[in-house]
Amino acid sequence: MARFDRVFRFWPWRRSSAPAPSEELGQDGPLTAMVIVAHPDDAEFLCGGTVAKWCGRGWTVYYVLATSGDKGTHDSSFSSQELAAIREQEQREACRVLGVKEVVFLGHPDGFLEADVELRGEIVRLLRQYRPDVVLTWDGFRPGFNHADHRAIGIAVRDAIYPAVRDHLYYPEHAEEGLEAHQVNELLLAGSDEPDYHVDVAAHMETKLEAILCHSSQLGGRSREELRRLWEERMRSSRNGRLTESFKRVTIRRSMRQVQPPGAPAEVGQQQAEQGAKGQGSEGKERQAGG
Ligand SMILES: [Zn+2]
Repeated sequence: MARFDRVFRFWPWRRSSAPAPSEELGQDGPLTAMVIVAHPDDAEFLCGGTVAKWCGRGWTVYYVLATSGDKGTHDSSFSSQELAAIREQEQREACRVLGVKEVVFLGHPDGFLEADVELRGEIVRLLRQYRPDVVLTWDGFRPGFNHADHRAIGIAVRDAIYPAVRDHLYYPEHAEEGLEAHQVNELLLAGSDEPDYHVDVAAHMETKLEAILCHSSQLGGRSREELRRLWEERMRSSRNGRLTESFKRVTIRRSMRQVQPPGAPAEVGQQQAEQGAKGQGSEGKERQAGG
């Protein structure tokens, strides 16, 4: 019981005492974001308006796709390789419309994604390479019906962010590649049943639709008008008539091991996070050593 108390007291995910989730990210200037999803078109549906808004404000946005959607067709004339090539090209086109700087395809088989040590390591490497302030992914713990790949990528990203990416002894081979540990401080979870961070995308709906339309192999011939009606209805019904994309926001406390600016006072919460992180970190290492 005492062990449980310690873990929860020092848990680094931000709780109710943190800044309100409604405080908009990027108020002090453009940030770097990484959107990590399972399939081509996931991101456009989940956050196309948000990404368009961020890019319009000067943010740098990267996409990572765990699979290339190589199974999703009823047309028996396609091979997986052909389908993957089409879906990757459509995704690149959508990224160009939105202003995304770069898209990375990890090439895992569609439908068989696993939140394992390998996937976590790939994500950790990309986080250390691109060093985003904000990461957006699927809510891997959403109850109810969900695609297994959405669940897997959501869990793998969460496990990569805490604590692996910030502790250099996780995946130490990255240091040999010149990559340093990194901490992500903001995580936005899409598809959550408890969203608390709402981005008004009314001014970016046309760009979102344009990006969705790039995925023509997945749209079954739907027109822009049909898509607009569908999406506006869905978005308005969930947010009192406002056109928003909604997420669960998780703010992660800064570790005391990160270099602090000269004279910056350490907060009690930070000290707690540090003590907790030490406990968590050593547990993680034991598990790795044992496994
Ligand atoms: Zn998907």
